[in-house]
Order: sequence, then C-alpha cells, then structure tokens
Amino acid sequence: MKLHRTGIKPSIQRVAVMEYLIEHRIHPTVEQIFNGLCMNVPPLSKATIYNTLKLFVDKGLIQMLRIDERNVHYDADISEHAHFKCTECGSLFDIPIKHFNVEIVNSMKLLITGCHLYYFGRCGKCIDLEDHNIK
Ligand SMILES: [Zn+2]
Ligand SMILES: [Zn+2]
Repeated sequence: MKLHRTGIKPSIQRVAVMEYLIEHRIHPTVEQIFNGLCMNVPPLSKATIYNTLKLFVDKGLIQMLRIDERNVHYDADISEHAHFKCTECGSLFDIPIKHFNVEIVNSMKLLITGCHLYYFGRCGKCIDLEDHNIK
C-alpha cells in the first residue's frame, strides 16, 4: 500500500479514500468521494476527506487538478499525462502525452517538479448525441 511508504498512518478513512481513488479513475471531487464512501465508512465527513486528500497531495501520492473552476478533482495516477474536459457533459479523461524535450529543459537550468496540461472540447458521446439530434 502506498500509504506505508510515506509514513502516513493508515486509518480506516485514509485507506478508504485512497482505495476509492485507485478504483474510480474518474478524477473524483470531494463530493463524489463522500457520496461513494459515506455509507460504508463511518464516521466520515467531507472535512476528513478534504484533509486526507490534502495530506496525500502534500506527500506526492496523488495529484490535484484545477481543470474546473468550480471543483477541484483528484487523481491517484501521478504519472505524466494530460487531461481533457468535455465542456458539454463535464467528463474528465486522461490523455497520454510523450515526454518533452529534456535537453532543452536542462539547457534552461530549470528543475521541473510538476506539470498540468488541460485540454477542453467535446467528448465522443456528446459529439454522437449532437449528430443524432441534427438528423
Ligand atoms: Zn461529453
Ligand atoms: Zn488523470
């Protein structure tokens, strides 16, 4: 389990939040995590979830996405990848990206510790739906 390696005490709530993130690759918000767990993991409050997520972000276990101006999303996948948000239905997808040019970054003497790449547009479902409505 990821938690042991970073010295985080694995309380029931923390383990539940981490498992939820690993099992639900939808980039959930605090609200979604709460709705998904509150019945199974008492006592659990939104504040607990928020604090747990903050701890995970601080320890570099998960990443925080600010792709949406209203909600912060969380992602257990911390490998390098970009995100796509459908402006119609709000779904969030991962987009694989290739490494950038390391030589250029080195020559600029930059030490990069994070990167967020956000794309916006319409997802396949919404495009299909629109095509369907036109016909
Ligand atoms: Zn969509
Ligand atoms: Zn992601």
